[in-house]
Amino acid sequence: MTNYKGTNVKLIKCGKLFDGIHDELFENMEILVNKDKIEAVGRDLPHPEDVEVIDLSDATVTPGMIDSHTHLQVFDWHHAKDERIFQNQASHNLAVLYNAQKALKRGFTALRHMGSKTFDNYAALEAKRAINAGYFPGARLCVLPYTMVTTGSHGDLSQSAYMNPPLAKYLCSDFPTMGNGPDFFRGAVREQVKYGADFVKIMSGGGFSTPNDTPDDEQMSDDEMRAVIETAHQVHKKCTAHVYTAKSIKKLCEMGIDELQHCHLMDEEALEALYKYNVPIVPTFSPFEDMYESDPASMAQKSPSWQRKQLLYGERMMKGREMVAKSHLTLGYGSDLVSVYQPYQGAVEYRNMFKAGIDPFRILKAATSVNAKLMEMDDIIGSIEPGKLADIAAWKSDLLTDPNALLDCAFVMKDGKVFETEAFDD
Ligand SMILES: [Zn+2]
Repeated sequence: MTNYKGTNVKLIKCGKLFDGIHDELFENMEILVNKDKIEAVGRDLPHPEDVEVIDLSDATVTPGMIDSHTHLQVFDWHHAKDERIFQNQASHNLAVLYNAQKALKRGFTALRHMGSKTFDNYAALEAKRAINAGYFPGARLCVLPYTMVTTGSHGDLSQSAYMNPPLAKYLCSDFPTMGNGPDFFRGAVREQVKYGADFVKIMSGGGFSTPNDTPDDEQMSDDEMRAVIETAHQVHKKCTAHVYTAKSIKKLCEMGIDELQHCHLMDEEALEALYKYNVPIVPTFSPFEDMYESDPASMAQKSPSWQRKQLLYGERMMKGREMVAKSHLTLGYGSDLVSVYQPYQGAVEYRNMFKAGIDPFRILKAATSVNAKLMEMDDIIGSIEPGKLADIAAWKSDLLTDPNALLDCAFVMKDGKVFETEAFDD
C-alpha cells in the first residue's frame, strides 16, 4: 500500500475518459494523482481520506494535448516579419514563453518547436530550460533551435528582404544552419545537437509563406539530405523534414527519414513509400483552412504571393488531403500556425482534421500518444496510465461530434499542478 503521508494527492472524477490509447470513452473513471505522477486509473479507487477531489464528472478527460508542429518565437503572426527582423533575442525568448503559457491554459501541455529559420538565436531552448526549472508556467517543450536550410530556399527567411540584397545578406550572417554541401550540413547537425537540439529537421523544398519559390522546388540535394539524416542518426537524434512533393517524399523515405511534415502534394507512389518505410506524417492542415473552407476574408490576410500559390496548388492540395484522410498512415497532430492564427491556437487543427473526414479517435491519438512518441517523450506523457506524468486536460464539448471541441478547455493539469484555463479567442 502506497504511503501518501505528507504528499499532495488528488482524485479526479471523470465523466468520460479518453486514455490516449483506446478508441473508446470510458465512463465514470477516476484518476489518482500523487505529486506529479498518475498513480492509478480505474473505478472506485482506494485513496487517502483527506484526498483533494477534482470533480470533472460533467466533462471528457484526456491526456494533455500535444502540438507537434509549432513556431513559437513571435508574439503575433500578423507582424511576424517585423518581429523577426527588428526585435532582439530577448523578445524572441519572451515570445516563446508567452506562447507556451497561453497554450498550457488552452489544454496543450506539450509543444514541439520546429526550429527557427533565421534571426531567432536559441530562444526556444532557453524557454524550455526556464519552464523545466519551474521559473515560468508553460507547456513542456521539445525543441529544435535551427532547421537545416540551403541558400535562397523556403527556409532562408532573408528571402523576405529580397528587394534589399545588402540587408538580406546581413540577415544571413547570423544563421548557423544555412549553407550548402554535405560537409556543411554534417557540421551544422553536430552543432545543433551540441547546443541541446532534441531532434533535427530538413527543409527539403519550397513552401507557401516565402515570396520567390514554389512548393514544387527541390531546394536540397540528395547528398545534402543524406548527410543530415546520417549525421542525426549517428548522434541518436530523429530527423524529420518539411516536404510537399511526391518525388521528395519518396526520396526521403528511401533515405531513412523518421517522420515527415505536410506531404500535401503526395501521390499513390509516395503513399506506398510511406507505408513501405513506415514513416509517420504530420499533415498540418490549419495554415490552409481558408482554402479548404473557401473563406476569402481569411485568405486576404495572407501575403499576395501566398494567395497566388494557394490558387495554383489548391486542387492538388485538396486531393492530397483526401488521400491522407483515407490512408492508414500514422498521423501526428501539428498546427504549423504561421498566419491567421497565433502559435498557441493549436486547437484549430482538431477541426481541420475533423473536417477532412478523419476519425475523431485517430485525431485524439495523434494529439496525445502518437505525438508523444514522435517527440520521444512517450515514456513520460501522451496517455493516462499509472507512472506517467500527470499532464491532463478536460473538455465540456463532445469530442466525437463537435469539430470545435478543443477550442474551449475546461481544465488543465501539468506535472500534477492545476492551472487556470482560457477559451479560444480570435
Ligand atoms: Zn512549419
